[in-house]
Amino acid sequence: GVINMKAIIPFSHQLLEEVVREGDSVIDATCGNGNDTLKLSKLVGDTGKVYAFDIQKEAIEQTKGLLADHQINNVNLIHDGHEHVASYVKEQLISAAIFNLGYLPKGDHSIITTPDTTIKAIRSMLSLLTTKGRIVLVIYHGHKGGTTEKNHVLNFCTELDQKQYQVLQYQFINQINNPPFVIAIEKLK
Ligand code: SAM
Repeated sequence: GVINMKAIIPFSHQLLEEVVREGDSVIDATCGNGNDTLKLSKLVGDTGKVYAFDIQKEAIEQTKGLLADHQINNVNLIHDGHEHVASYVKEQLISAAIFNLGYLPKGDHSIITTPDTTIKAIRSMLSLLTTKGRIVLVIYHGHKGGTTEKNHVLNFCTELDQKQYQVLQYQFINQINNPPFVIAIEKLK
């Protein structure tokens, strides 16, 4: 057959659709303007739960507005860093988490995700993940600080034990201006 080469955002959503079921608990680690939160909230439905994090009040408000427009009530909006996920998501397992690394589109370009907090959050979420669950990272890296974060995250992901995790990199390699790319981590057991 013909390979359908999906753009980055649709591909990241497809990776979520394949593993998230109604009633699941899931995480949007960087809610920003709320697009991934909305996607996840539709996938888990009324019986599910989305935990959505952002450190910026502006992002939380933006996401709150988007969810209200869609009459959605299954999201727990958390105005705190995703590295503190263990304080908010207790006891239950999650089937997926998504990160969009970088700055808030149309927001302050100097407020960015950082290597230490991102990796701390990924580690915590790996321990909350169900078997066959996925962590999807959309890595924007064209901004100041972006290359450093990209390298740290890639090093961390490259070293994950292949007996426990399958890690995919999805990237268009002939585009200019540091296009974003996807890393997907799937827990095997
Ligand atoms: N997915 C979002 C959307 O659809 O609009 C875009 C997310 S944007 C690329 C990255 C977001 O991460 C920013 O809104 C920023 O405030 C947030 N952020 C930065 N550090 C964070 C942290 N430690 N915990 C949670 N969010 C963080």
